[in-house]
Amino acid sequence: MKLVFEKSISGKRGVRFPECDVPCAGNIPDKLKRKNYAELPEVSELDTMRHFTRLSLHNMGVDTNFYPLGSCTMKYNPKICEEAVLYKGLGDLHPLIPQLPDGNKFTQGALQVLYETSQFLSEITGMAEFTMQPLAGAHGELTGTMMIAAYHASRGQKRKKIIIPDSAHGTNPASAAIAGYEVVSVPSNADGVMDIDEFEKILDKETAAVMLTCPNTLGLFNPQIKKIADKTHEAGSLMYYDGANLNAILGKLKPGDVGFDIVHVNLHKTFGTPHGGGGPGSGPVGVKKNLVDFLPISRVVKKSDKTYALKYNYPSSIGYIAPFYGNFGVILKAYVYILLVGKEGLARIAENSVLNANYIMKKLKSYYHLPYAHTCMHEFVISAVKQKKNGVRAIDIAKRLLDFGFHAPTIYFPLIVDEAIMIEPTETESKQTLDKFIDIMIKIAKEVDENQEIIKTAPHNLGISRLDEVKAAREPKLRWAK
Ligand SMILES: *Cc1c(COP(=O)(O)O)cnc(C)c1O
Repeated sequence: MKLVFEKSISGKRGVRFPECDVPCAGNIPDKLKRKNYAELPEVSELDTMRHFTRLSLHNMGVDTNFYPLGSCTMKYNPKICEEAVLYKGLGDLHPLIPQLPDGNKFTQGALQVLYETSQFLSEITGMAEFTMQPLAGAHGELTGTMMIAAYHASRGQKRKKIIIPDSAHGTNPASAAIAGYEVVSVPSNADGVMDIDEFEKILDKETAAVMLTCPNTLGLFNPQIKKIADKTHEAGSLMYYDGANLNAILGKLKPGDVGFDIVHVNLHKTFGTPHGGGGPGSGPVGVKKNLVDFLPISRVVKKSDKTYALKYNYPSSIGYIAPFYGNFGVILKAYVYILLVGKEGLARIAENSVLNANYIMKKLKSYYHLPYAHTCMHEFVISAVKQKKNGVRAIDIAKRLLDFGFHAPTIYFPLIVDEAIMIEPTETESKQTLDKFIDIMIKIAKEVDENQEIIKTAPHNLGISRLDEVKAAREPKLRWAK
C-alpha cells in the first residue's frame, strides 16, 4: 500500500490512505471513514532532534551526573555494550524465528550468548546451572521460590514458610508471598545483620527456605553466613541468595561456596545496563545440582557437534516463566561486559566498589549519624536523625544534592534505619568525583545550622522545583497539559 500525500482543506499537507487491496480495508463502514484529511503536525528533522535533545538534558542520568543510588547500582555502562545490541544478527533477531528443538542456524549466535553467559554466571556464583529467562530481579525471586516449592514437593513435603531478615529488599517478601509462602521476618541485631538467636528460634521443619542478601542492604556482610547455611540445611531447608547487587563479591566469594543453593543476579545492576523506572531488567537464576531439574523451560544446551539448541522436554520443570529468549538485549550486554573486564577485572570491580564506599563513609561519619559503624561492602547507610532534630530531613538533603548536580541517594530504605540515606558510589567513579560529593554532603550538613531554608526549599536550579510528593502520588496527572 502506498501512502499519498495531498493538500488538505486547510492547505496543510495530510495523509490519505488510498483504496487498497487488503480485504478488510474495504469493510470499514462509511460513517467511520474520515471525511477530511488528517492534519498531521509538520516538524523538521532539526526541530525534532532539538526537541528530544532538550528533553534528554532535563534528565538526571549517569551519563551526566554522579548517581549514588544505594541498592540500585547505577554505574557507568560501557558504550560498547550498547553497540553490541545494535549488531544486526543479534539486535534484529525476531523472537518468532522458530526455536526448533534441534537447533536452528539463524539463532545459533544468540543461543551461544545465552549458553556462555549462563556458564560465566555459574562460575561467578558457584552454581551448577542458570536459567536466563527471568525478566527482573523480582521475577528471578519468584522463579527461585517456585523452584523451592517444586523441590520440596518432589520430596513429598509441603513446607509453608520462608524466613527473611527485616533489612531485606521489599521484593523478597513480595515474591515469597506470591509463590504462596508465609513470610517470617527476623530482626537484625546491633551489628546490622540477621540475629542468629532469633533465627534459630524460627527455623523449623516448616521452613522451605531462608532468603538472604549478603552483603545486606546496609552494605554489611554477615560473618555467620556459613553457620546459618549449615543450620538451614540441617532443618532440610534451602538457602536463597538475593544477588541483585553482586559488585562487592565478584571474583572474591561464590555464594555457592558458603552454602547457598539458589541465586538470582540482576544483570542490569551489576553487569552494565542503564535501568530505572521499572526496566529494562534481567534476573537470571542459578541453582545447585539438586535443583537443576526444576529450572524453567526452555533451556539452552550445547550438543556434541558444538551447535546449540533450545530444549523443552524437562518433566520436573516449573514450566515457562518468560517467553522466547528472556530479555535478550540485557543478557547480551552482560555477556559483552563480562568478556570486556575479564576475570581479573571482575575482582577489581569488587575491590574498588568496596574501597569507594568505605572512603565516603569514613569522610562523612563525623557529620552524619552512622548507625552501623563497621567496614562496609559496596554501600553504606547513614542517618539524618541529627539533622532531623534541627528540622531538616533525609528527603531535604536528597533534594539539596540535586542543586549541586548529584542524583539523590536512596532514602528511607532500609526501613530499619530512621531517616536512612543509602549511598552506593560504585566502582566506576573517580576520586575527584567522590571528593566533590563528600564536600557537598559536608556543606549541606553545615547549612542545617547556617541556612536551612535553602535545604528545605531545594532544588533551586532544575526545570521543576520541589513537588508535593503526596499529592503527586494520590492525584497523578498522567497527561501532558499545556
Ligand atoms: C533491585 C533489587 C531487587 C529487585 O530487582 P528488580 O530488578 O528491581 O526487580 C531485589 N533485591 C535487592 C537487594 C535489590 O537491590
